[in-house]
Order: sequence, then C-alpha cells, then structure tokens
Amino acid sequence: MIYLDHAAATPVSKKTLKAMEPYFAEDFFNPSAAYLPAKKVARDYAEAKSVIAHAIGAKESDIVITAGATEANNLAFTSVHKSALYLATEHDSVRQIAKQYNGKPIKVLENGVIDLDDLKNKITDETELISVALVNNELGVIQPMAEIAGIIKNVKIDRLKRGIKRQLLLHSDASQALNLLDVNVARLGVDLLTFNSAKVYGPKGVGALYVSHDVRLKPLTLGGGQEKGLRSGTENVPGVIGFAKALEETKLHLNGNRKKYAKWRKILLENLQGYELVNKKYTLDNFIVLCYNGLDAERLIFLLEEKQVYVSTGAACAASKGVRSHVLEAIGLSDTEIAGSLRLTFGETNDEEQILEAARAINDVVKYEQERING
Ligand code: PLP
Repeated sequence: MIYLDHAAATPVSKKTLKAMEPYFAEDFFNPSAAYLPAKKVARDYAEAKSVIAHAIGAKESDIVITAGATEANNLAFTSVHKSALYLATEHDSVRQIAKQYNGKPIKVLENGVIDLDDLKNKITDETELISVALVNNELGVIQPMAEIAGIIKNVKIDRLKRGIKRQLLLHSDASQALNLLDVNVARLGVDLLTFNSAKVYGPKGVGALYVSHDVRLKPLTLGGGQEKGLRSGTENVPGVIGFAKALEETKLHLNGNRKKYAKWRKILLENLQGYELVNKKYTLDNFIVLCYNGLDAERLIFLLEEKQVYVSTGAACAASKGVRSHVLEAIGLSDTEIAGSLRLTFGETNDEEQILEAARAINDVVKYEQERING
C-alpha cells in the first residue's frame, strides 16, 4: 500500500499508543475524583496539557482541550458578537460556523495566499474576528500571519484613536501546520489558535484551542465545568496523553521531515508526466496538487486504488459528499480543472521508493484514461 493522504488522517505511532494504553484500563479514574489514584490521573492530564501548550509556545492555562479541530474552530467564533471575516479557502468547520456569526469571506490570490487588499477593504468597525488558517488543508499554502497581524494592529490603533472599543481578534486554524512548521502563538501574533491531534499522528477526536488571556469565549457545552468552564464533560485522558506524545515526536522530526519531503516533492514532480502543478509556491512540501485538465480525478483515484495507491481529490469530507472544492474554485480553477485535480500528501508512512512507485502508477493511470477518452 502507498498511502498519500496524510492531510486526511495520520496513523498513531507505536510510542503514542503505548503512552495512551495505561489510561484506558489501569489509570482510568475520573480526574475530578477526590481519591489519590484519580489525583495522579489529574496530574498526568495537566502535564500532558502543558506539553501540548508548550508545542505552540503557550502555557497550560492558555489552552482548552476539545474533541477535535471542528469544535475548537466553533468555540473560537463564540468570541464574536457582531461580525467576522474568514478566508474563502477555510475548512468547512470555519466556513459553516462563520456564517452563523455574520461572517464574510476574504479573497485569495491565484496562488492561494490571502489578498491583503481585500482584507483591508473588508474590515469594518463591526469586525471582531478574522479567521485565517496557517496552512490550507487542500493546497498546503502557508499564510503570511505576521503581515495579517500587522494590519490588525494598525486597525486597532485607529479604532483606539476614534474611541471605538470593539475587539479585533486573529484566529488561525493550524491543524495542518504542526508537522512541518515550528508554530509559536506569540510569533504568529494570534489571539486564538486551533490545533488537531488527528493530523500529527495522535488519536482522532482530540484537539485544542489556544485562547489568549484577554479573550472571552462562551462555552458550547455546559455541565461539570471542566476546562475552566469552557468545555464541560469528563476529560479524554488517553486522548490528551496521546496528543502530547504525538506532538513531542512531531517536534523531534520537524527538520528531518522538512528536508525529506522537499526531496520527495522534487523526485515526484520530475517523474510525473503531463500534469499542471496547482500549488507551486508558498506551500508545505508534503502537499502536491496536480491538475490533469480534461480527465476525471474520481476515476484516477479509483484506478489508483486498484494499484493500492491512495490519494484524494481534496478535503476528505468534501470528496465523500461529491461537492466541488471551494478552495480550487477560490484560486480561479475552471470546472474541468477542478474535476481533474488530485491531492497527494506525504507523511511518515512513505519512503523514497514509494514516491517513485506512486509516480509510475499515476503516469500509468493517466495514460490509460487519456487513451480511453481519445479512443
Ligand atoms: N481544520 C482543518 C484545516 C482540517 O484539515 C481539519 C481536518 O479535516 C479540520 C479542521 C477538522 O478536524 P476534525 O475533523 O478533527 O474536527
């Protein structure tokens, strides 16, 4: 099997699984209970949260554990009273919740990078939150967060001068970033940051939201008051232990993976034929989006699956619903270009030999399809 869909899901490593295991059947106690074994679990949970927070340059008290990035993104928007802006290429978990908070999309340029002029034009005195993913999940495009934070800072100074007290927060969904980027909340200049265990070789259904100390959120779940009242419900102890372990391992492999994926990207593109590269610039090296204009990517995926090569057409959730990629649409691809686009994402399960084999398999199925269509 050659798995090239690491942006959709990553396998949990043996070390991470081993770290999680005791918390299912031995150290299973509820961290809120009063007896000693439960207190130990509460300590381990807090320690794991510290590790998770440190991975993005934050403190344990700054993060809220959630059941994944979708929930963290939804929670971030509870900071909004009036209106919000979000990048047109955001994941659906931002786009859908933003619509409920009077959210307006910000355009991207043809390379997938935010149109800073459009951002400046769309900020009004009502805007309270701007949501821009650090790395886009279909293109791997990295957004210039420092420049965005600079624009926000100027707007805040202007608002102060005019006596307008309304907050203006920057939220970033960094779900796809932590495998290759050294993410630090202070350097990015964000007030809220989403991150996701499932994309960094940790367990699924665990995520976190970094919340700067001056930001006020409204809980999505009410109950026992866990996570400082922002996320009631018994803590997912094994999940959080696994998330912490996975992030530690990710940090260790950051530089090595960056070099490895850059090399693989070059090898793959040199060995492939007849494609148009969609994400040429400002992208993580493990994201490759190929366009075979005139071909049907769904059929290519099916033919590749027969060769046990697994790729996708874009976001896994959009692909399964058969809807057109709003991301490829936003960067100006035509209908036939969108229909002929494949997303390949490298990860820990791959090696160089697999990359060469994948290139051969893709060339073969593309040739087969071209011959079938042209008779
Ligand atoms: N945000 C981005 C950028 C993603 O890639 C994903 C994963 O699909 C999500 C949010 C949603 O994550 P989850 O399904 O773990 O809630």
